[in-house]
Amino acid sequence: MRLELVNTGTELCLGDTINTNAAWIGQRMAALGIEVARQTVVPDGGAVREAIAEAASRADVVLVSGGLGPTNDDVTRESTAELLGLPMVQNPEVTAHLEAYFIKRNKPVSPATLRQAMVPVGAEVLENAFGTAPGLYFPAQLGAARGWHSHIFLLPGPPREIKPMVENCVEPRLRALSPDGLSRLVLYLKLTGIGESDIVEKAEKELEAVAGLELGYCIGKGDVDVRLAGQPEPVLRGAQIVRDRLGEFIISEDRRVLEEVIIHSLAERGQWLATAESCTGGYLSSRLTDVSGSSKVFGHGFVTYANEAKQKHLGVPASLLDLHGAVSEPVARAMADGCLATSGADHALSITGIAGPTGGTQEKPAGTVFIGLATKGQETLVRRFFFPISRDRFKLLTSQAAMDMLRRRLLGLPQVGL
Ligand code: ATP
Ligand code: MG
Repeated sequence: MRLELVNTGTELCLGDTINTNAAWIGQRMAALGIEVARQTVVPDGGAVREAIAEAASRADVVLVSGGLGPTNDDVTRESTAELLGLPMVQNPEVTAHLEAYFIKRNKPVSPATLRQAMVPVGAEVLENAFGTAPGLYFPAQLGAARGWHSHIFLLPGPPREIKPMVENCVEPRLRALSPDGLSRLVLYLKLTGIGESDIVEKAEKELEAVAGLELGYCIGKGDVDVRLAGQPEPVLRGAQIVRDRLGEFIISEDRRVLEEVIIHSLAERGQWLATAESCTGGYLSSRLTDVSGSSKVFGHGFVTYANEAKQKHLGVPASLLDLHGAVSEPVARAMADGCLATSGADHALSITGIAGPTGGTQEKPAGTVFIGLATKGQETLVRRFFFPISRDRFKLLTSQAAMDMLRRRLLGLPQVGL
């Protein structure tokens, strides 16, 4: 099933409004197994009619957002009726809905408002529970005279109105239209600790040999999604190839990011995590606490930026700091051990490094970072990483590497890093 999306609104073209409807609909359709073959964004006015005509001539389904309102620049309904040669009649149910809506708000019903009750003959009204303008559905046969085979849905622009309408009115109709077309499966395998080019090198040849498998990559925040789409058989075969070749790097197959995976894994085990951060300034604990339910596994996050703080709160000996410097393997180890002891947690992650761009030396250039992991009853582990990039990317990748160290320990996987 080929679906096209037309988003209307001058504000979208100007960049005043971000086209969040397109992103949201893309995700909803992917979850349904429907491919959005094309997205078009057009300003209000004549371009709307042109865009709908083009999309309808190509697609099986056209979703149009915006331009259903009462103002003069809202032309979607009239344009579609004209294209299909349908007369418009005032719909009594919609009129009653509009009147009730305005009476409830103590406002008069203007003639402009009543334009929204005009329904092209043959179109079905889609109820708008959160606004005035109803949506409209034009079954494909209405366009047959023009040689089109396209089902057209007109939907409101405001996100809080379009979302329930897509869920309640559009998706059930799409399911009914093409149960076969929806057998398409889309899987996302999220990997961390490995770059796109290494993924390509390790798995792409084998994946490309799978007939009917559509392969895509999407770089996220410190991770990469391998997207596998197509009919279920090749998609499942592709997923198995990725698991066989790159299994240790896969953090989730349900789109969860690493902080979610960590919090959920610790919660399952009933274990606690504490953190001691220097150069990331609390970024790791911030990411952990982005996850709902984090309070059940995360109780202590130390930001020990200065040497005195490392001594006072984590018990790092001054002699160690003097001898090796704050950015060193022994200090990362002492921070992790101290954090584990003071917090009473089951695991403690420590981070000490040089975010840069200043502060580097020949031996420890900017971007150098040591990450420690102490676990009750296990040997404390320290790994060195090198992320010579901007400060915000450094914080992101460092916090990601730290959480990945813990993930690998929880799963008994080999550690990465130097
Ligand atoms: P209204 O009755 O509010 O005029 P409408 O169906 O005519 O509804 P638009 O006028 O196109 O919708 O959009 C109304 C508001 O919805 C816009 O000002 C914008 O804030 C938001 N909006 C429209 N399209 C999008 C979009 N694609 N993504 C996100 N927000 C959008
Ligand atoms: Mg409008």
